[in-house]
This record gives sequence, C-alpha cells and structure tokens, in this order.
Amino acid sequence: MSLHDSNRPTMPGLSTNSRVELGRRPKLAESPEPIGKRNLAVDEPVYRRLVFNQAEASVRFDGFRMILMYSTLLARLKHELIAQSGYQQARGAVERLGYTEGTKTTLLASETGRGATFEDLMAVASEVCTLTGNANMRLTSADIRPEAGVFLAEVELTHSIEAQSHLEAFGLSSEPMCWLQSGATSGLCSAFAGKAIVFRETECVAMGDERCRLVGKPLEAWGDGAEDLSVHLRPDELVNRFSLTRRRSVSWAHELSQDVVGISASFVAALEQLRKVAPTKATVLLLGETGTGKEVFATLLRRMAGNSEAPFVAVNCAAIPENLAEAELFGVERGAYTGAIQSRPGRFERADGGILFLDEIASLSLAVQAKLLRVLQEREVERLGAGTSRPVDVRVVAASNEDLWQRVAAGSFREDLYFRLAIFPIQIPPLRERRDDIPLLIEHFLRRYGQLHSRRVSGLSGRAVQALLHYDYPGNVRELEHVIERAVIRVNEGEAIDLAHLGIPAMGASDALLQLDGAGRLRADAPQDARWNALVDSILENGLPINALERILLDGSLVKTGGNRSQAAKLLGLTRRQFNYRLNGSQGRSRSKNLRT
Ligand SMILES: [Zn+2]
Repeated sequence: MSLHDSNRPTMPGLSTNSRVELGRRPKLAESPEPIGKRNLAVDEPVYRRLVFNQAEASVRFDGFRMILMYSTLLARLKHELIAQSGYQQARGAVERLGYTEGTKTTLLASETGRGATFEDLMAVASEVCTLTGNANMRLTSADIRPEAGVFLAEVELTHSIEAQSHLEAFGLSSEPMCWLQSGATSGLCSAFAGKAIVFRETECVAMGDERCRLVGKPLEAWGDGAEDLSVHLRPDELVNRFSLTRRRSVSWAHELSQDVVGISASFVAALEQLRKVAPTKATVLLLGETGTGKEVFATLLRRMAGNSEAPFVAVNCAAIPENLAEAELFGVERGAYTGAIQSRPGRFERADGGILFLDEIASLSLAVQAKLLRVLQEREVERLGAGTSRPVDVRVVAASNEDLWQRVAAGSFREDLYFRLAIFPIQIPPLRERRDDIPLLIEHFLRRYGQLHSRRVSGLSGRAVQALLHYDYPGNVRELEHVIERAVIRVNEGEAIDLAHLGIPAMGASDALLQLDGAGRLRADAPQDARWNALVDSILENGLPINALERILLDGSLVKTGGNRSQAAKLLGLTRRQFNYRLNGSQGRSRSKNLRT
C-alpha cells in the first residue's frame, strides 16, 4: 500500500518523501535531506503514526482509532444537520468537532519535537491533512508573535474533500463548506498560541472559487463578527439550545459561560448527562478528581433545572468536624447537648425546596451516613434532640473525588447509601484527559484575572504555551486557574507571560522535547535523546551490532556521494584518512566474520 502525494504543495520544513510506504521507514537514500540537517524528528515522520491492524479491524493514527468511510457520507451528514438546525448551527457543530482534531495535531507535533515554531507546526499539520485525505494545505502568509498577542495567518487548501464532496452531491454552494478544516485549523493554532484563534473561510471551491482560503486571527480581532464566531467555540450554546426547560435568557447564558469552558468530547459528554438529569428530581452523584469543577456542575444543574430562585446550599463534608456533622446537617433542638442553647435548623432544612450539595461525601462517618440515608428515604428530617421529624423537599447532589465503590468494599461507606446516591452518576474528566480545552481555559482565566487585577497581558511565549499544554495538572482546572492568576500578577504590565511566571515545571517546554513513555504518558527528554530514540529503538529491534551499523553508514555515504570518499567522509564528519581507516577495518572485520561462518 502506498500513498502518492505528488500534488502536495511544498512546505518549508516538510520531511516526508513524495512516495512513502506505510509502516516502513524510508531508506536513507530516499530521504530528500540528510538526517539531522534540520531540527526535526526526521526519523519519525507523521505517516509512521498510521497503523493498520487487521486482527482488531482497526486503523489507528497516533494511537487514536480512525475510520475509512465514503466521503459522500460527510456531505450527506452536513446536509442533514443543516436541514435539522440551520446553516449556522450545523456549521458550529462541525467546526467544534474539527477544533478538537486540530488540537490533537498540535500535541502530536510537540511529541515529535516539531511544535516549537509555527512553520514546523504547520508542516506537521499539512502532513496530517494530506495523510488523512482532507486536503492539501499550504501556509501562504503568517505574522505570528505570540508574545505581543499578534496572530495573523492565511492558509490555502486545494483538493479539499469537504468542498469536493459538497460539489458532487449538491452543486455550487452560496456559503463556504470546509467546516471541519476551518475548525481543525482554529484548534491547531489556538493550542499553539494559547488563546482562541478563529479561522474563517473567505473563499471556497464549493462556492466556485479557484481554491479555498482560510484567514485566522484572534477571536477578539474579528470585531463585529467575534460574538457570532465565539458561539461556535462554547458549550453553553450547545447546552442552552438543547435545554429541555427552554428557559433561555441572555443573562443566564452569560452567567453559564462564566464557568463552563470546554468543547472536548469527554467534557461535552458530561454536560450532556447533566442536561438530561437536570429537569428531573433525581439524586445526582458527581465524580471527579479534586479541582475538576464538581461545584460548578452542581450550580449549573440548578440553573439548568430552571429553579434559580430556589435555595442552593453547599456543604463540604470534609470541612465539618465529625462530632458536629449531625447537628450541622440535620439541625439541633435547644438543650440537645451542653452548649445547644438555641434551636437551629440544619442544612437540610435550609435547602428545603431546593438543592443540597454535599461535597466530599465519603468523609461522613458511618453514623451520619445512616441518618442521611434515612432522610433520603423518608423525606423527613429529625433535629438532634427532637422527638419528632419534619418533612423536607430537598434534592441531593453529592460529590466525591474518591472511588466510592472502593470505600464500600473497604467497609467505610454504606452500600445502601451508595446505591441511593449513585442513581445517576456523572464522571467529570480530569484536565489531562481534555487537553483540547486548555487553550480556551487559558484565555478565559487570562481575561478574568487580567480584569480583576487590572493588568494587561500582551500574550504568552511559545515556551509558556507548550508548558501549559503538556503539564499534568494534578489539581485540574482549579490548578490551571491558580497558575494563570499567579502569572498575571507576576508579569509586568503590557508584557507577555513566559515560563518563569507560571511556576510549573518546564517539562513540555519547547527546549525539552516530549515523547510517550511505555505507560503512554508524556515525558520530557533531553532534545537529542528524544530525536534519536526512535532510531535507537529500530536499531536495537533489528538486532544490528555496532560494527554492522558502522558498515551500513560507511556504505550508505559512499552510495550517496557516488563513491567519492572525500565527500562521503565529510558527510560523516570524518577526515578522508579516518574514513579509509574505518572502511578498511570494517571490510577486514566482515571478511574475517565471513571466514568464520
Ligand atoms: Zn472550501
């Protein structure tokens, strides 16, 4: 199987050959440039990440499962979407899908050590675009100065599958049709710049233009059209539109977008779950690591349920001393214990008619768990020291950063309470599993803390963006928020945020290249190591002894230079004398080896 891409325009920094065989390393003699000439992982071209596995019926690119399908399907799908929800909505949905694809490409470029400069990144993107059959992509102009907040780029597409399939199925269009590619280029560049960069298609083959042209600038630089474009990158638009309650208001949508930032698949899936359960009366269990935004989800649920007037009471169960938990949650009657000089209602009563958010529920003692279960079953609460109970109408939203089922197995959490709470569990993904959303979050927090601390930040350095993109965030979104706030305070007015302002490890910064380790996690290597790791692996896998390797290099350099020993020596960084010595030595070794065998 081979890919023929002779139509691909030449890009600065491209390293693949005009004809490549999938899954096979190109021979040295076929390489257009000698290894190591550019600062590229030339021994790890993008196509090597495409793997066909017949046994498991899978096509994987960079580890992600792909699918080969008829392109007419894409055109029909878009047509159906337009029919269902109109051009703007359909385009928004497809652009969002493309956006997350694009950020994946930026991560891929970093892993192969080619994400440091914009040119390098676009070369990788162009390879991916060609390899996946989307289009031939060419950067036609660029003024990229992330430190100064300047980003202006123009990209040209030829042979775009989206334009072609639309033309074939539906004829000329009055609107541009390369939505996936526009979204992907936006995602790609947003992840590079650390802020929302939006690409708009100004010319499209589907409209009868000679080629497709995408123009990209920061969201705010689009002026009047910015608001229109930003809805494409916000999940609130998604949530709002599909909300069952149909209680739409400008302020509600605005409020919502303050905290809910992200369009990655796992995050949107969690929002979808929330949207489904919000208008019901069901108890909800929010699961996720510390800092993933469980409280944000709980308040969002209240707004989605459409009862923003109703009480919302939040309790962090871990913050209440164990001996006070009962009184705090269920209330207390005067004289119930020494010091109870006044009767007072508990959190349950205060949340009557609304929502009680119980964060870190696993830290409640077994005794309090028993009482909580009773309240949930009977819908009545009995104050401490009271002989009678009073009815309460409270919807409980519980949250935990621990695996509650494990706590059940360990005997520290009641099984019956677990089942009562886990009627509708929602898993909120950790930030490292939704890296697609990091650029949007960075921009969101930059705006918030820039305003709060009255500081104008011009942008982010490439090193800073790389570090932010690859950091593992054990503290999740909350940690990213703190990192950005700290950076805003540290940076000088009008200057760009650099690595030093962030206070996170430099790993992932452009001077430390990234690779996946055996466990599939990103790790930083010394640049040289990362560049040659794949080569070393291959040599060792092939069981090549060092003498044979030397011989291959010596022979290869002679083939490349047409037998000219001086030039061959130069290629290998040797003098002609040293070259001859090694050549004779290796011939001697292979002769003696031949004699022995
Ligand atoms: Zn187009």
